[in-house]
Amino acid sequence: MGITEADLRWWLSGYNPNNIMIGVVASHSALQILHGAKKEGFKTLGIAVGADKRRLYSAFPGSEPDEWLMLDDYQDLKNQEDWLKKKNVVIIPHGSLVEYLGADTFSKLEVPTFGNREILRWESSREKQRIWLEDAGCTTPKVIRDPRDIDSPVIVKYAGAKGGRGYFIARDYRDFRRNVNLDHEFTIQEYVLGCRYYLHFFFDPLAEDGYQVHGIKSHAGRNLGRLELMSMDRRDESNVDEFYKLGSLRDLREMSLEPSFVVTGNMPVVLRESLLPEAFRLAEGVVAHSFELEEGARGMIGAFCLETIVTDKLEFRVFEISARIVAGSNPFVSGSSYSDINESGMSTGRRIARCIKKAIETSELDRILS
Ligand code: ATP
Repeated sequence: MGITEADLRWWLSGYNPNNIMIGVVASHSALQILHGAKKEGFKTLGIAVGADKRRLYSAFPGSEPDEWLMLDDYQDLKNQEDWLKKKNVVIIPHGSLVEYLGADTFSKLEVPTFGNREILRWESSREKQRIWLEDAGCTTPKVIRDPRDIDSPVIVKYAGAKGGRGYFIARDYRDFRRNVNLDHEFTIQEYVLGCRYYLHFFFDPLAEDGYQVHGIKSHAGRNLGRLELMSMDRRDESNVDEFYKLGSLRDLREMSLEPSFVVTGNMPVVLRESLLPEAFRLAEGVVAHSFELEEGARGMIGAFCLETIVTDKLEFRVFEISARIVAGSNPFVSGSSYSDINESGMSTGRRIARCIKKAIETSELDRILS
């Protein structure tokens, strides 16, 4: 059994709301999160394994945590739950925390955490994600169940692979057989040709103004909260992004080279404005459906990202959703072309801290934490 809303309320009853400390594992988007938390006036805690991490953060005084919790192993975080609660810590989860702890341990960590931890169960299964996205009105890449049906380029993704590691493109069944590692579970997806846009949104269930998400089914007719577009990035992926420099795919094959999709960095992008209504429609559908994923679902809270490819027909294909802050928001520590329109210098990390600050003011922390 995971953390219940009653557990959360019990922990919060022992918290001093005027002394909340933002805690984060020093990796992924932590420089941004710590920077944003400091800007919003919070005390901060860095959690790390290994002194080199701490040294690295000394290179960025604007993000350096007020305190450190140094561990021998990230699993030891489980033994620090009482200490963290005594310190009034609210943990901001990101991809590395979930990876280091494992989704199961993370879901049971007995410390107040920003966002809805339950939703990560939907996010961490490719099949569940696909159902959620399609119910929400997103078109996802076609899935090929039988490799013998491959009749156009496909991308083969291994279960649990992170950051595109080990993925490969197959042009036909022969290609697939030559490259596949049958020891691992995999999914075969249509390779969508187009430009990638990673759309970083923020859903604030406490805000009653702005672009309100309309509830459906069990919440029909209700405004659920405000949807904001924070920023957009495209990933730099090694080596596929530089592959073309060596010649045609046939030349590369002759050199026994295959493209790989390992994320090495991120670049800011903006979408042509005429595509924004569709981007918002997709994100609104995803949020509205997050409240229908199961009986009594708490829905999306905070940052999420739609990973999309826009085709030359100007259609979006959504190939993944992350229901938390993504590292692609890191180019925007000082704001983006979108967030700056509303308030300059607003990163996703700072937006999270702002959401917590507002919830403290209105005594609604239990609505944005889990
Ligand atoms: P993460 O969990 O870090 O987001 P991941 O390991 O789940 O990454 P994906 O994001 O699914 O991997 O895919 C990695 C990369 O592969 C994408 O950034 C994109 O370049 C490419 N890619 C994924 N799916 C498709 C697709 N259907 N068509 C074309 N390219 C794709």
